[in-house]
Amino acid sequence: MYTDNHNHTKHFSSDARQSYTELIDACKALHMHGVAVTEHYEGDYPHDIGAPQIFDIDRFFEESEKWIEYAGSLPLLRGIELGYQKHLCGFYDELVAKYPFDCVILSNHLYMGKDPYFFRDGYREDMVTVYTRYIVEMAEMVEGCNNFDIVGHYDYINRYGPYEHPQMKYSQCPEAFDRFLTAIIAKGKSLEINTRSVDKMRKKGLNDTLPDPDILSRYYELGGRFVSLGSDSHGSDTLCIHFPEVAKYLSEFGFTENSYYIGRKRYGEPLIV
Ligand SMILES: [Zn+2]
Ligand SMILES: [Zn+2]
Repeated sequence: MYTDNHNHTKHFSSDARQSYTELIDACKALHMHGVAVTEHYEGDYPHDIGAPQIFDIDRFFEESEKWIEYAGSLPLLRGIELGYQKHLCGFYDELVAKYPFDCVILSNHLYMGKDPYFFRDGYREDMVTVYTRYIVEMAEMVEGCNNFDIVGHYDYINRYGPYEHPQMKYSQCPEAFDRFLTAIIAKGKSLEINTRSVDKMRKKGLNDTLPDPDILSRYYELGGRFVSLGSDSHGSDTLCIHFPEVAKYLSEFGFTENSYYIGRKRYGEPLIV
């Protein structure tokens, strides 16, 4: 099985349901190669949702010692999912340098300064306008920040889109995608393939839920080789969800490895075992 690079626990992410024991028990039952815990850290989060969107990183490292002990032979990787805003890049670059993280995911949960999970009015404009603006923001994020390993869910914006066919496509904004993908490659980062996004589309009853082939082939064509699988699990029932299917799909474009990180160094495990 695989390393799942993107997961949350209820101990440090307010929207997660699983405890660390539930997470680790489920990973062992699935015979996973490894698991990364990547708790949410959203500096200056614009919505008041009654719970902090940042966590005490010192306490995380203290408490996770016992998680590692409980995990035993299962590699438990300690990460963080940073929520991008333009003014936070320098702060984040310095923040994560102070701690012995294994992996750092950089994500953009905001569109025009608000989380689309709450801000459905953001979808009033047509899909191409909205998605183009989001991917341009993603490009700015990768260009502006430096101290991260994985670019989280580039398709976050389409999780809540009210459109009839909300799938994100390269053809909707090719220039923006080229800028975004080129920046990832130039910085040697990994493009996350977020299988929670796939799952959410399937639960809506949509067909055509795997990442757009044109995005993947363009990334590969530009020189992108690093992809990273993440289930973005908030409960223990979705770990590694759709991984075998998505891994096989990725291999059809030429990708050979699932990137994972230990001590901020990239390793690869075969997509096809
Ligand atoms: Zn996220
Ligand atoms: Zn996440």
